[in-house]
Amino acid sequence: MTTQFEIIDNLNYIPVLDHGFCGLIETLGSDDAVCDAARVSYGAGTRSSRDNRGLIRYLVRNGHTSPLEMTAIKLHVKAPIFVLRQMFRHRTHSANENSARYSIMSDEFYLPSDEQIKPQSQNNKQGRAGEIDAISKHGVRWIMQTAYENAYAAYNVLLGEREGSEEHYNAYSDESPLLSADFPGIARELARSVIPVAVYSEMYWQQSLHNMFHLIKLRSDNHAQYEIRQYANAIYELIKPKFPICCEAFDDYVRNGVSLSHMELILLKEILTHDQTWLKEQITNRTPIEFASAYNLTLREAKDFCVRFDIDF
Ligand SMILES: Cc1cc2nc3c(=O)[nH]c(=O)nc-3n(C[C@H](O)[C@H](O)[C@H](O)COP(=O)(O)OP(=O)(O)OC[C@H]3O[C@@H](n4cnc5c(N)ncnc54)[C@H](O)[C@@H]3O)c2cc1C
Repeated sequence: MTTQFEIIDNLNYIPVLDHGFCGLIETLGSDDAVCDAARVSYGAGTRSSRDNRGLIRYLVRNGHTSPLEMTAIKLHVKAPIFVLRQMFRHRTHSANENSARYSIMSDEFYLPSDEQIKPQSQNNKQGRAGEIDAISKHGVRWIMQTAYENAYAAYNVLLGEREGSEEHYNAYSDESPLLSADFPGIARELARSVIPVAVYSEMYWQQSLHNMFHLIKLRSDNHAQYEIRQYANAIYELIKPKFPICCEAFDDYVRNGVSLSHMELILLKEILTHDQTWLKEQITNRTPIEFASAYNLTLREAKDFCVRFDIDF
């Protein structure tokens, strides 16, 4: 397993979380190559770099994304397995991951920093929010660390490696042995079952710019888990210098843009025909539920709408 220490001086790598990283191995294509592919459909026309910028912005703004697929980005990623599992949900990739059937698993586990240890969010079932006292944070880290150590010791025992594991597994006493004296260990592919998903694994990952934009959009969003957000942001930092114009267009039209539902559009039209005072009155004169249901919005949608326009709700 590659350590953070080994990549720390490599400018193509960014350390992520406590033991992970993202590295840019190579890219195929460029802003110009995206334009060349697009011009097959639009004809040669003019080819100045200013024209390229206009063309790319047109492509991204209008969802004509196939020219962005004429690219490839190869990454080296080391992350906790629960992060890799979220990345693998993005099916438009090719990947090759470290094999825990073939090699011994890493003893590096993700231990969240104090500031990331938070309670379950009350209004987002997939998130964390609020604060926990300092003593409990310390306790949480200790409990996690101890669980990792116990799991790794169990892994070693199952592999037939007893040395160093006795303090966790004193079942080797002569009186009541759990395993026979000549226990050879079980296969790595089975022994790994006891390892938690916080363990680090590494992989090579290849994707086109178009599909990587999709991943970055979803996984750098505030709704995504903090840990994968760090990876999405690091990947974006690595690819920006390779495709600066595409990334600028992506920022302007996709990443920092919003799409509105039909109900939100109707509400927006009403706002534009009144002024902000009108909207504030609508919100304060009704309960949030009454306000939301007047526009066929859920409470959450109404709240998101107001947040988008910096209006208190
Ligand atoms: C905040 C957040 C929470 C999530 N929570 C969960 C969860 O609780 N449980 C869970 O299982 N997943 C969850 N996911 C994963 C999510 O449902 C998607 O699987 C993941 O984000 C990949 O998105 P995608 O399918 O658009 O991307 P990709 O797999 O990269 O696909 C890109 C696009 O290709 C097309 N495509 C690819 N494969 C197919 C196909 N088989 N059929 C049709 N079209 C296809 C689609 O248009 C798709 O948008 C979550 C994702 C996010 C961002």
